[in-house]
Amino acid sequence: MDVLQVTEKIIDKNLSKDNDDAFFVLDIEEVKRKYEYWIQKIPRVVPYYAVKSNDDVRVMKLLRDLGAGYDCASKKEISQVLELNVDPNRIIYSNTIKQVSHIKYSAEKGIDKITFDSAPELEKIKQHYSNAKVVLRIFNLGLKFGCNHETEAPKLIKLCKELDMNLIGLSFHIGSFTNDHTVYERAFETTRKLFDYAETLGMKLNFIDIGGGFAGKDLSIFDNYAASINAGIEKYFSLNDVEIISEPGRFFVDTAFSVATQVILKKPSEDGQIYYYINESIYMSFLTMFLYKENLKFSVIRKTKTEHEPKELLSTIWGCTCNSMDKIIGNRMMTEVEMGDWLLFFNMGDYTTTTSTKFNGFKNVNVYSFEDIENL
Ligand SMILES: *Cc1c(COP(=O)(O)O)cnc(C)c1O
Repeated sequence: MDVLQVTEKIIDKNLSKDNDDAFFVLDIEEVKRKYEYWIQKIPRVVPYYAVKSNDDVRVMKLLRDLGAGYDCASKKEISQVLELNVDPNRIIYSNTIKQVSHIKYSAEKGIDKITFDSAPELEKIKQHYSNAKVVLRIFNLGLKFGCNHETEAPKLIKLCKELDMNLIGLSFHIGSFTNDHTVYERAFETTRKLFDYAETLGMKLNFIDIGGGFAGKDLSIFDNYAASINAGIEKYFSLNDVEIISEPGRFFVDTAFSVATQVILKKPSEDGQIYYYINESIYMSFLTMFLYKENLKFSVIRKTKTEHEPKELLSTIWGCTCNSMDKIIGNRMMTEVEMGDWLLFFNMGDYTTTTSTKFNGFKNVNVYSFEDIENL
C-alpha cells in the first residue's frame, strides 16, 4: 500500500468515529532507506540524529537499532533519548549555549561530549562538569553560533589547555542554506590546520563533528555533499585515527511523514479567487514552511461528489487559527476541491511535530504509522 491508500483508510476509519482532525502518516521504511543510503555514501561518518527535527519514538527507536547516535540540545531531549536505553556515549550535547541545570544534568547522566564556542561557556562547563570532553564549534556563518576559525579558535584551544579541560575535537554545522558543494572539503582543511595547531601545544585531537543540514528530498544534492565530505576526509584525515560524526536531522525524516488535512470551508472571495480553509495551520505543522517559504506538494483525496467537472481555479489555502497571517498557500492555480475533501501534504517530517504550538486550542498530535491502520 502507498501513503495515499493508507491515508484514505485512516480517514475512513476516523470519520466513522467522528474524528475529523488533521493527522500525520509515517512511513517508517523511508527512515530506514535513508539511513542505509547515508551509510553507503559516507561510511566513515556516524550519524548522531538531531532530535529537534522530529522526536517521534518510533523513528528514534529505529535509528537506535540501526546504530545511530543522538544530537541533543537540552535536558528534555537528553532524557527522551536516555529513556530509550541509549548509551550516554552515543549522545552529543551540541547546544553551545547551555543552562547550568542542564549541564549538571548531563554530568549526572554521563553525557560527556559537549560543545562550546566561547570562553565564558567553557568556564561554565569547567565549573559544573570539569571532566567533560569538550568539542569546539568553529565557523560563524550566522551571528549566533560558532567562533571565528582564524582569530578565536586558536585562543579557545589554548584556553582549554590553560583550564585543563579535555578538548577532544572540533565541530561545525554548515546548515542547509548553502549550495556550495565544496564547502566540506574546505572545512576539513581548516579542521586539519587547527588539529595541527593543537598538536603544537601538546594536545591530541581525534574527534570531528560535521553537523547537519542535509536535505533528504533530493538525494542528488546529498550525493554532491557526500563527495566533498569523502574528499575532505581522504585528503586531510586518511592516515589519522579520528572519530567522525555528524548531526543530521531532516535528512532521515523529511520524506517519511505526510500530513492529511481536511477542507473545512470553501468560499468564493471578492478578489475572484477561491478560498479554502483547512484544519491545519502555520502555528501547527506549517510553521517552518511559513518561515522559510518552502514549496508545498500535495495530493487531493476526494470524499465528496461534485455536480460539475472540477475546474482549474486561482486559489488560496488558509490555516484554521484566528490569525490573519495564517496562510498555507497563496494565489496558486489549483484543481477545484470541495468542503469535506482532504489534502495530503508530502515531505512534512522535519520541524513540524516538534515546532507545533497549541495556539487557539489547536494542536496536531496524531501520528499514524502504516501498521496502525489495523488497530484503528
Ligand atoms: C539544527 C541542527 C542540526 C540538525 O539540522 P538538520 O538541518 O535537521 O540536519 C544539527 N546540528 C546543529 C548544531 C543544529 O543546530
